[in-house]
Amino acid sequence: MFKKILIANRGEIAIRIIRACKDLGIETVAVYSDIDANSLHIRFADQSVCIGPASPTRSYLSIPAIISAAELTGVDAIHPGYGFLAENSRFAEICEGNGFKFIGPSSSAMKSMGDKILAKQSMLSAGIPVVPGNHEKIENIPKAKKIAQSIGYPVIIKAALGGGGKGMRIVNNDNQLERVFPIAKEEARVSFRDGSLYIEKYLEKPRHIEVQIIADDYNSCISLGERDCSIQRRHQKLIEESPSPIVTPTMRKKIENYAKKAAQTIDYTSVGTVEFLLDKTGNFYFMEMNTRIQVEHPVTEAITGIDIVKEQIKIASGKPLSIKQKDVHLKGHAIECRINAEDPENDFKPSPGKIEHLYIPGGPGIRVDTHIYGEYIIPSSYDSLIAKVIAYADTREQAIQCMERALDEFLIEGIKTTIPFHKRIISDPRFKKGKIDTSFIQNL
Ligand code: ADP
Repeated sequence: MFKKILIANRGEIAIRIIRACKDLGIETVAVYSDIDANSLHIRFADQSVCIGPASPTRSYLSIPAIISAAELTGVDAIHPGYGFLAENSRFAEICEGNGFKFIGPSSSAMKSMGDKILAKQSMLSAGIPVVPGNHEKIENIPKAKKIAQSIGYPVIIKAALGGGGKGMRIVNNDNQLERVFPIAKEEARVSFRDGSLYIEKYLEKPRHIEVQIIADDYNSCISLGERDCSIQRRHQKLIEESPSPIVTPTMRKKIENYAKKAAQTIDYTSVGTVEFLLDKTGNFYFMEMNTRIQVEHPVTEAITGIDIVKEQIKIASGKPLSIKQKDVHLKGHAIECRINAEDPENDFKPSPGKIEHLYIPGGPGIRVDTHIYGEYIIPSSYDSLIAKVIAYADTREQAIQCMERALDEFLIEGIKTTIPFHKRIISDPRFKKGKIDTSFIQNL
């Protein structure tokens, strides 16, 4: 087992990983940018190294700075968390090249899924249904039009190396396509240094259903059920739950098999998530695979009792999976609300600043993963996620009640947060009935 791990991240996920390390008896090294000097992840880690100024490109995204910190502190392994360098296969290669185990999949498995066009092609050849589309790069507008017409409008234009909803545009007709194509291309080029785009059918009011898998180096791959992440704003997840209110045991078996097949097709090891869209007629389509730990992993931990981060670290150290598929039992219901420092009454404008007063909810069934504390100053340089509230109970109805209690207790003064918005969503009768799809918030 590793003796010391460097966590190449910040915020709640850095703390989550430090906790897993402590439970495994592993020492930790935190890295931070100068604006994060008062962050909790530094206090919880055994050692810490400042890796640069606030700008992510010069700190949390700076591969030389992170590798130097790893050398300086003599760690065995590097955990990338999510975001930043987590899905950067070059970073994984550089870690390994410098003698640090990258806690994640092999760089070749990452590459197979990093380019979404290649990923879709390989999934199709493995017999997994993918969203109807062209599955190849589209160079120009005439070609784009031809493809869109053959698929049938509405279509969605996506960036081949996409993520975080960037470079994505829904298009309803030829005129709109002409206008939007160059914009999406430029956005993809700026965000991913590659303007390659592809087109797929835009499914109307689908649900986003994803499967958590864990695979080790010894050909064992298990699935831990699904998460329903249909409550989204601008294609970004806000609320996730497990199990999905719509997925039956037969449907679960089907997508779990697809997800395991997807992982095995690319010789995947580590934890990963295979994302699907479920259309109104009950068809699942592969969308992408996230080759890292995800924000919403705690809902799966709640219903399976499995510590996914600990498993991820153990597998990276060369240990076999400690759980067999037959030992995975889904019990109860869990819901997660992502609390952001944003103003829901002002078009979700970021609301950084000082937290004047704070009370974090607790009690039976509540878990809060957060890095904020009283008088903490939320910087404007990073993602606005400040806390995740996870409610767990025997039934969905009880989990919603438990979440309502926690959101009522949660007191954050000094900044605006999305707590009131979450309260609106979970008290909505349609949400309570489980009647959700990715357009839920538009119609709230
Ligand atoms: P990213 O990697 O940028 O987050 P994804 O491909 O994971 O993008 O898609 C994010 C969200 O966008 C999905 O959860 C879904 O709500 C929406 N979406 C993506 N593709 C489609 C599609 N073909 N039809 C309808 N909605 C889609």
